[in-house]
Amino acid sequence: MGCGTRRIVSGWRASAPLALLLAMVAGCANDPPVRSENASAPSDAYETGDTERAAVWFEDHRNQPPALRIFLQRMPKGGDLHSHLSGAVYAESYLAWAAEENYCAQRVGETLKLLKCDAGDPTMMRLATLTDSRIYNQLIDEMSTRNLAFAGRSGHSDFFAAFRTASPISRLRDGEVVAEVATRAAEQRTYYLELMISPQNLAVRELGRKVGLRSDFASTRRALLEAGLANLVEAGRNELDHMEKELQQIMDCDGANASPGCAVTLRFLQQTSRNRTPAEVFAQLVFAVEFLRADSRMVGLNLISPEDDRISLRDYTTHMQMLEFLVATAPEPVNVALHAGELTLGLVPPEELRFHIREAVEVGQARRIGHGVDIVYENDAMELLEVMRERGVLVEICLTSNDTILDVRGDDHPLPLYLEAGVPLALATDDEGISRIDLSNEYLRAALSYDLGYRDLKTMARNSLAHSFLPGASLWQQPGAFTLTPACASDTPGSKSPTRACADFLASSERAQEQWRLEAELVDFETLNWAH
Ligand SMILES: [Zn+2]
Repeated sequence: MGCGTRRIVSGWRASAPLALLLAMVAGCANDPPVRSENASAPSDAYETGDTERAAVWFEDHRNQPPALRIFLQRMPKGGDLHSHLSGAVYAESYLAWAAEENYCAQRVGETLKLLKCDAGDPTMMRLATLTDSRIYNQLIDEMSTRNLAFAGRSGHSDFFAAFRTASPISRLRDGEVVAEVATRAAEQRTYYLELMISPQNLAVRELGRKVGLRSDFASTRRALLEAGLANLVEAGRNELDHMEKELQQIMDCDGANASPGCAVTLRFLQQTSRNRTPAEVFAQLVFAVEFLRADSRMVGLNLISPEDDRISLRDYTTHMQMLEFLVATAPEPVNVALHAGELTLGLVPPEELRFHIREAVEVGQARRIGHGVDIVYENDAMELLEVMRERGVLVEICLTSNDTILDVRGDDHPLPLYLEAGVPLALATDDEGISRIDLSNEYLRAALSYDLGYRDLKTMARNSLAHSFLPGASLWQQPGAFTLTPACASDTPGSKSPTRACADFLASSERAQEQWRLEAELVDFETLNWAH
């Protein structure tokens, strides 16, 4: 077995085999121990014969991706922790809603843009009566990365252009947008979503511009609150109320024909655009922290917009310092997930690849890192991996997104490196609508690209809930080691009739409730007939 095809080493969850990593970096002279066939990640104490049968079935069909797709679509996957709501919707849905809302397409040079119809303008093409399928197809291509090879643009520019084309209509139907994403998740046995959204984004940025930056972060924060930031938080909460009401109507969750999406637990992360002036970014971050404190539906915050943007790069460290201040001064813990290291050599100068992930973890207080693709270019990367393992900083892995936007895929992606180092990982979609994928696809891609087995993927599904921003204690005693918490020590994970002590524990923790549900789903899944 050559260096490039080395299989994942067993035991990666338990400790960081740094010596092994160093050996790998130094060369291929000392091959690491090879995991045994069908025994990818180490088994846990609760495995049954069914677990083994499912793992064997998976290995037996490794060379048949369509069979693996059937397996993975049915496999319970916990949660999707990295999903931008506006990028999660498919273009076809946006176009249908836009047609109902009297939108038109208009040609601007080679591209099309969407805008409200003006009956007096003959250059506008009404979507509701559009019969030219070439226009319709071009719109879908522009609102996604479909047919990228023919677009004449890079994946990077095509991806971010897709947001721009869809933006006039992405906020028209917030309830339907969430319903589509929740239903798609449920159809793939994914019952927890942390969706990234930007309520009150324009108003908060405007307030930030008005207030500006004062002598220090503390006085700027005070000035923002005095200038009415709390009112915007209320307005943001009203947006969530409106969305929830619409969602209830669409999914009919209390009715006889409830949508499968009703089974999905929805939580939100407040987005802050990082390519704005420092005053605007700070105002957005203060807003996010206040929103989290005021509303339990909003469980964390994230920074968005291209990390390689000129302003994002220029102000990166300042943004991390803003977060450090806000996390340290907040009366309650603040859950921070950060896009960091969504960069690669060539996209930016090498100097920009040296510190983003480290600063996100050590200064910005990120508990989760989105992407982390440039880890190998970081200063003292081996030590940083160890810091991430020790702190239990999870990396949200978005394989298709990294392939499209960064051109990083296969052996060039650091997923195996993170695994070897014992850094917890979860698979995520990033923007499933724009990328025209789903979470099952990302599981399949991970399995095929990195030789991951069923137990590896099960660990990632469990990680997604263990590292979610839901409140409450974890079901597991230690991160990454799947031993039930003492209150449930005599129980079988996912049991329908937990002991009194375990039931009390579950009642006290939203996180543990979701974890228990996943365990029950996994037992059901493994019980399916995986014998052939
Ligand atoms: Zn993202």
